[in-house]
Amino acid sequence: MRFEEFLRKVPKVELHCHFEGTVRASTFADLAKRHGIALPTGDVSKLYDYATIYEFLDIFALVSSTLVDREDFARVAYESLEDGVTLGNLRYREMFFNPTLHTRRGIRIATVLDGMIDGIRQAETDLGVQCRLIADVYRQDEPATARQMVEEVVELRRPEVIGLGMDGAESPDSPERFVEAFALAARNGLRLTSHACEDGPPENVTTCLDLLGCERIDHGYHVLESPEVTARCRDEGIYFTCCPTSTSVVYGWTDLRTHPIRDMVDAGLRVTLNSDDPTMFRTDIGSEYADLCMALHYDVAQVRRFVFDGIEATWLDDSDKTSLRRAFSDELEHLERQLEAT
Ligand SMILES: [Zn+2]
Repeated sequence: MRFEEFLRKVPKVELHCHFEGTVRASTFADLAKRHGIALPTGDVSKLYDYATIYEFLDIFALVSSTLVDREDFARVAYESLEDGVTLGNLRYREMFFNPTLHTRRGIRIATVLDGMIDGIRQAETDLGVQCRLIADVYRQDEPATARQMVEEVVELRRPEVIGLGMDGAESPDSPERFVEAFALAARNGLRLTSHACEDGPPENVTTCLDLLGCERIDHGYHVLESPEVTARCRDEGIYFTCCPTSTSVVYGWTDLRTHPIRDMVDAGLRVTLNSDDPTMFRTDIGSEYADLCMALHYDVAQVRRFVFDGIEATWLDDSDKTSLRRAFSDELEHLERQLEAT
């Protein structure tokens, strides 16, 4: 087996993937047609063309607007997990979704959640992949809107929803605006994470850890600009959910050989690999492993670190982590034997 194939077949967890960013272009076109929503182009292959994070966020909102009925959410959740399994041997995902992108269009939050949960349960039955959900605060929302979103999520008490995160454009809106929303989530037993240092300063990581109470950091690249914050994250064993392709497209780190992920690994930070918005960036979890590890000439030991740090960074309980570790270990040994045989 070639190393690239090995990388795609390695069993994986994924902790940084946005539901709305996993819609297949063909499904986006289908749903737009079904709901009478105009698209900027009739060419399905060009639907996900954009140049900046702001254009990307516009398309993200347009994709979201095509999700209307419970079955739309179910279809996308199922296809999203199916792509992860088929293209990258995905076994477990904690997936973000943005409630207010939908509720502000008049879609009930129960429709969003129950639709996604239908798709998740069907995918588990058919494909053996598991998925849990993280409701994301959208940074460009007002703090009161974010707080109300958390109240609604808490009130519904769907067991699949295990955490609160935060996304949207980082530079214009600082994380401390959402202290109340995060405190409310923590009081109600939700686990906490946040996008930070994607294009914002290292202080954003400190704010997310100390003020918001986050356990993980999504992205985190600019943390390297502060030796103090970097050392703190290393010493505390903070997990970073990094996304090679999306950031190389949006932030111009087009050469993966010099992507900050390399320096984060070298600095001793705990890094996991993720696909972010896979269909919108024309990638998948298998390609993220293959492209980054090939570009940086990482060996099997480093691949194992990514995989097992991924398991440690999940919010599964200890016994579920142990069984996942065991299953992954067996499968990796089998794959490594096939790799050596060539
Ligand atoms: Zn993201």
